[in-house]
Amino acid sequence: DSMAKTTHIAVVSIPAFSHQASIVEFCKRLVHVHHHFQVTCIFPTIDAPLPATLTLLKSLPSNINYSFLPPINKRDLPQDALSAVQIQLAVSQSMPSIQHVLRSLLSTTPLVALIADLFANEALEIAKEFKLLSYVYFPHSAMAVSVLLHLPSLHQQVSCEYRDHKEAINIPGCVPIQGRDLPSHFQDRSSLAYKLILDRCKRLSHAHGFIVNSFSKIEESSERALQEHNRVSSSNSSGVYLIGPNVQTGSSNDPKGSECLKWLENQEAKSVLYVSFGSGGTLSQQQMNELGFGLELSGEKFLWVVRAPSDSADGAYVGASNDDPLQFLPNGFLERTKGRGFVVGSWAPQTEILGHVSTGGFLTHCGWNSALESIVQGVPMVAWPLFAEQRTNAVLLTEGVKVALRPKFNDSGIAEREEIAEVIKGLMVGEQGRLIRGRIEKLRDAAAEALKEHGSSTRALYQFGTQIERLEGQS
Ligand code: UDP
Repeated sequence: DSMAKTTHIAVVSIPAFSHQASIVEFCKRLVHVHHHFQVTCIFPTIDAPLPATLTLLKSLPSNINYSFLPPINKRDLPQDALSAVQIQLAVSQSMPSIQHVLRSLLSTTPLVALIADLFANEALEIAKEFKLLSYVYFPHSAMAVSVLLHLPSLHQQVSCEYRDHKEAINIPGCVPIQGRDLPSHFQDRSSLAYKLILDRCKRLSHAHGFIVNSFSKIEESSERALQEHNRVSSSNSSGVYLIGPNVQTGSSNDPKGSECLKWLENQEAKSVLYVSFGSGGTLSQQQMNELGFGLELSGEKFLWVVRAPSDSADGAYVGASNDDPLQFLPNGFLERTKGRGFVVGSWAPQTEILGHVSTGGFLTHCGWNSALESIVQGVPMVAWPLFAEQRTNAVLLTEGVKVALRPKFNDSGIAEREEIAEVIKGLMVGEQGRLIRGRIEKLRDAAAEALKEHGSSTRALYQFGTQIERLEGQS
């Protein structure tokens, strides 16, 4: 109500576009539901703010502010480390700046709570120091959150590398999962990436609640498992709030992107396969060739966001290559697929493409934002996971809710052209694709339902706000 006093909260993200976009959309929904909330978003930065994030921040309501922290130099981070590790180190190095920003905020405003991205959850310690309520924001599926919560116990129970574990692993509320499909951070138990994620997962029990970018209908059993876990093992018996899908909406107004939208205009309804590996995913040169030939062989129409190849799957996550990506396509590819395929270098207006009537399928790396964006538009998927928790998402999409087909990879980890072509045809024109379309259209409707005024995700947002105000009253 209009008499309510303002509730101030701070939000800490990480220098990765998909995480920033997800948490910003969450903040927008939060202040939409709770008009008296005032949010300050804090962005740790590597080198400079991400251009795509700057675009996103242009259209914020007046009760959301933001602040970019003094940048960490990429050249001061270990150059041989994975992007995910570089990002986490940069966030850790930014903790003194976060503390500084919070202290100066507190000198002028009665902050009550801090929400930190999973990969910034060291900030929970700062929240404690300042006597703030603390929450973790997961731009993840509830299944991935359940996997993360159970890592400390998996670590005790399993002594080999997870990928060598013979049977599928049962995690509460999740479809059984092969060890190799657990997040990439888990895959080398002697690595720094593993140590970082294990520490992070252990730290989760201090939070007052988890905010998850998913919705009840798609992940009922994982949601229950999270609630049960928190009831038993969290020191604050934390709340679990499935508040999604929070995905970007509206148009990017990027003139470079409009070419491909124009091309889509002239295609038949649901005839085009959109191919993209997220904001930073990359293929090896060999895999890129196979994908190119696979698209050709399939005979289907496609719109492919091509990125320069790299030997590391998250090669373009922190600082992309400046090479023209199109030069890495198979010889003669553009001529042979002229009219049938459209190729875009590095970046495309994804939400507009997925929302276009001509788009009939999405070959995706299964980043959770991409998966949700596809679900929101009812677009069937080919699941081609690369890194992070994308393999876990692929299991949820193919074996859990059954809205995607997953190609087989050979012993060298390559999906071959014939296999790619078969899977694409299966999705675009096959019987399996037809069934998948039916299922994903139901999920699309369920997602829309969840976001309505009395839908599950809107109710979760209300409950989250109410919990903050109740706990604040107690402290
Ligand atoms: N995205 C985009 N254009 C591109 C590639 C990605 O707009 O060419 C957006 C996409 O819509 C999504 C985000 O970037 O919102 C990617 O997030 P996701 O979680 O799928 O993957 P990640 O980038 O974390 O690997």
